[in-house]
Amino acid sequence: MGPFVDCGSRFVDCYAATPGVVPGLIRYRRWHILNPNDVWAQMTKRGDKMRDEILGVLRSAGSAMSAYDVLRQLRASHPKIAPPTVYNALAVLTNTGRAHRVESLKAYIACQCDGSHQAAVLSICDECGTVEERTAPGLVENLTGFVEETGFLPQRHVIEVHGVCSSCGSGT
Ligand SMILES: [Zn+2]
Ligand SMILES: [Zn+2]
Repeated sequence: MGPFVDCGSRFVDCYAATPGVVPGLIRYRRWHILNPNDVWAQMTKRGDKMRDEILGVLRSAGSAMSAYDVLRQLRASHPKIAPPTVYNALAVLTNTGRAHRVESLKAYIACQCDGSHQAAVLSICDECGTVEERTAPGLVENLTGFVEETGFLPQRHVIEVHGVCSSCGSGT
C-alpha cells in the first residue's frame, strides 16, 4: 500500500454521480492511495533530477524549510525556476514518503527514517528549529483505536510536538 496523498489542501468541487442524489456542487476532501511506482512513472527525467536536488536541499538544511525557502535556495543555481516546479516536486516527495510536510510550521523536511512509514512523531525544537523524526507504530495504533471508538475513520495522522531539543536544553 502506498502512502496517502493529501489532495485536501484545497477543497475540490465535483458533481454528485450517485443516482437519487440531487445534482449539485458538493464539497469534499479527496483522499487517494497511490502506488508510489505510478507516481514515479508520471515523472519526467528532468522532474527526477529536480526532485533529487530538492531532496538534497532539504537534507542539508539544519531545520524544516518552507517551499519558498527551497525556491530561494534553488534560484542560486536555477535562476529561472518557477514556483510550481518546486511545489510539484515537493508534492511528489511527500506523496512518496521521501519528505514530510511539517504542518505546524507549513514547512518540509527530508524523511529521516526509511520513507515507507505511514506516520511519524515529529519533535520540533522551538529554539533552534531542528525537527527530529521517529516512528512509533504502537502510538499510531493506539491513537487510531481511540478515534475509531466514535466511528471516526482516520486517514492520516499528524503528530507534532513542540519543545526544546536535547542540545538546546543542555545549555541551561
Ligand atoms: Zn519519514
Ligand atoms: Zn534545539
